[in-house]
Amino acid sequence: MRHPPDPPATLEVRGLSVTFRTRGGPVPAVRDVDLDVAPGELVALLGESGSGKSVTARAVMGLNPGNATVTAGRVRLRDTDLLSLPDKQLRRIRGSRMSLVFQDALSALNPVLSVGDQIGELFREHRGETRRAARAHAVDLLAQVGIPAPARRIGDYPHQFSGGMRQRILIAMAIALRPELLIADEPTTALDVTVQAQILELLDGLRRELHMAVLLITHDLGVVSEVADRVAVMYAGRIVESGDADAVLGRPAHPYTQALLRSVPRADLNGQDLYAIPGSPPVPTRLPAGCPFHPRCAWAVDACRSTRPEPRPVADGRATACHRSSEVLDAVAG
Ligand code: SF4
Repeated sequence: MRHPPDPPATLEVRGLSVTFRTRGGPVPAVRDVDLDVAPGELVALLGESGSGKSVTARAVMGLNPGNATVTAGRVRLRDTDLLSLPDKQLRRIRGSRMSLVFQDALSALNPVLSVGDQIGELFREHRGETRRAARAHAVDLLAQVGIPAPARRIGDYPHQFSGGMRQRILIAMAIALRPELLIADEPTTALDVTVQAQILELLDGLRRELHMAVLLITHDLGVVSEVADRVAVMYAGRIVESGDADAVLGRPAHPYTQALLRSVPRADLNGQDLYAIPGSPPVPTRLPAGCPFHPRCAWAVDACRSTRPEPRPVADGRATACHRSSEVLDAVAG
């Protein structure tokens, strides 16, 4: 994103690239990503599986595997340069100043510890609280994320909760120490539609209540329109469109964003075949020349096959990496 929001960003990422060393050679998974999330703002990072969303999130958290090489001009959590931080300090910041909510709550929670012990451990470890005080805090947190009868359920184990309730417990753990930044990586994918909406409402409410920056990673555009302030759309490891959520989702300027929106199931099209984007995302080691989306793009012209489009400002203060974004916008408006 080329336009930092005002007030100053909680998360500021510039020129982030992540390459994995593999036996088959280097695999560039994320290329030159810029991203800002302001206090209290919810930014959705969108794209198909393999587009680089989760790799981006893990690079911010310092959680990429050992075969990853992360380079960036800047990755800052407010005044803290995350790139130059020693591992020990980074571990302390994770969970306290920034936290991550995963998709799979069952495997993220410890099956042999009660939820009260798991949440309480955070307060004991980071705040040095007594067992009793930590337990009281844990009860409050479970209430805050909407677990019914929290004082009674505090001793229960993860398998005794439904999928949606387990996700709420993960969120409780993520917000326990009042982080400045919460990254939620496909937090609703494993849940049914009604519960998905409830979890997003919860995240939306918490970021307002706690004035917390939230980066929501999802492949599902259907879930973000209600809650996101801004969106960034990723394709083949790069951000191809970013800006105000209503503007981008209401009037996409990039053919890939358009195609993603068309592939969202809609109740009013009941019975009609769901649109599927033709072809599949490119393999990172064999990106097509020019615009990486060109083999799948209905708008492609000769220039698209030879020259890669760089992000540039278009209408509504957004940035789009497409040679034909003005025409795409006009066509949507028409
Ligand atoms: Fe399609 Fe060309 Fe735009 Fe790429 S640059 S999205 S191929 S129109």
